[in-house]
Amino acid sequence: MDFNFTDKQNALRDKVRGYVDTNITPALVREIEEKDEFPHDLVKKFCDLGLAKVNIPEAYGGLGGDIMDLMIVFEEVAKKLPVLCWNLGNILLYGNEIIGVNGNQEQKDEFLPKLARGEIMFSFAITEPNAGSDAASIKTRAFFDNGHYVINGGKMFITGAGVSTYAVTFARTAESKYNGITSFIVDKSLEGFSTRSIKKLGFHGSNTCEIVYDNVRVLPRFILGGEEKGLNNGWKQEMKLLNQERLVLSSMTLGMAQASFDEALKFAREKMQRTSPSTDVQSIQHDIAEMASELEAMKVLAYSTAWKEAQGLDPVRETSMTKYFCAETAKHIIMKGMNVLGASGASMDCDMQRNLREILIFSIGGGTSQIQKNIICKTFGL
Ligand SMILES: Cc1cc2nc3c(=O)[nH]c(=O)nc-3n(C[C@H](O)[C@H](O)[C@H](O)COP(=O)(O)OP(=O)(O)OC[C@H]3O[C@@H](n4cnc5c(N)ncnc54)[C@H](O)[C@@H]3O)c2cc1C
Repeated sequence: MDFNFTDKQNALRDKVRGYVDTNITPALVREIEEKDEFPHDLVKKFCDLGLAKVNIPEAYGGLGGDIMDLMIVFEEVAKKLPVLCWNLGNILLYGNEIIGVNGNQEQKDEFLPKLARGEIMFSFAITEPNAGSDAASIKTRAFFDNGHYVINGGKMFITGAGVSTYAVTFARTAESKYNGITSFIVDKSLEGFSTRSIKKLGFHGSNTCEIVYDNVRVLPRFILGGEEKGLNNGWKQEMKLLNQERLVLSSMTLGMAQASFDEALKFAREKMQRTSPSTDVQSIQHDIAEMASELEAMKVLAYSTAWKEAQGLDPVRETSMTKYFCAETAKHIIMKGMNVLGASGASMDCDMQRNLREILIFSIGGGTSQIQKNIICKTFGL
């Protein structure tokens, strides 16, 4: 297997690094964390550089990138400002990817060019108070009435729902658990659609929301994939997106673990210069050695799985291994980073404490670590 990135991939990484270094200062990171507001300016600058079209097919004016490209973008952004990955997900993942993979011709023509220019954003609304890991047991319903589908129900923990133009909403349209779900592209300005933002321990600025649908009337042409192909087909459409979403989340853990390692290494070097040669710093050195080794294992697993996905091999088992391993290993790495930093790790001025709070969410979102282990076992027939 060739483990080198191509020139094109390296150029993309350099471009994203340039964007991050130019626009994201430590002061801005603290400001977003404190204000807990969606950073529209940063998203706009990302789109202005043409980066929002990275995974839009060339036929629609995009760069035609694959999962490797997406992961490079998210890994680099996560090193400096992890929440921005969730914000960009409202375009790259929940917009470009959902419409690109499952949209019909009319929907691709209508939405992809606007997504590329950053004019619209999408949220992805499946989770409900009693339907998280078992997402197919959703209770939000849609029934046909006088030329419209009428949606009633509620969603929880929907990223960016209050600021996105559309919410891709999963609703029950028939009784069959898996074959009775339809995805609707719901315009947020429709009557009966409302959101309430939820305060969280991390990812301030990602605008995580509860959504209420109170007789929201949606035209049939806004069924994802069109009425003929999309009605009662939402679950199958969702299955096609899972590998991509899980790999992208894993790439965010790579960026956060790398940034935490870099912060710990810098601190350890400075500490070794300050302390007398007789001081025993071996436990800190060992933390650094373990962090570096674990980080390397994460990178190899994540990018080898992404390579298989890009080849069209549908690596379901390896994707769940990656999602589980990266989420849990990044947690270990950041815990060790906290140990290296000592009291400094507890200061709100350092990134380590923020990474520690935020890394916990990767064991939950996109399918919990336990669910990934269930999937891995299932692929072994257990
Ligand atoms: C920051 C954030 C952003 C999110 N963004 C979105 C979004 O944009 N759109 C969206 O639709 N959802 C979103 N979610 C929701 C997320 O997908 C769910 O939280 C996740 O699927 C888990 O569901 P739950 O929280 O209801 O936990 P539960 O499913 O209730 O799980 C609770 C615990 O039970 C365990 N468990 C449950 N079932 C099993 C099982 N079968 N086997 C073993 N263990 C099990 C879980 O592993 C977990 O430890 C977001 C969540 C967060 C925290």
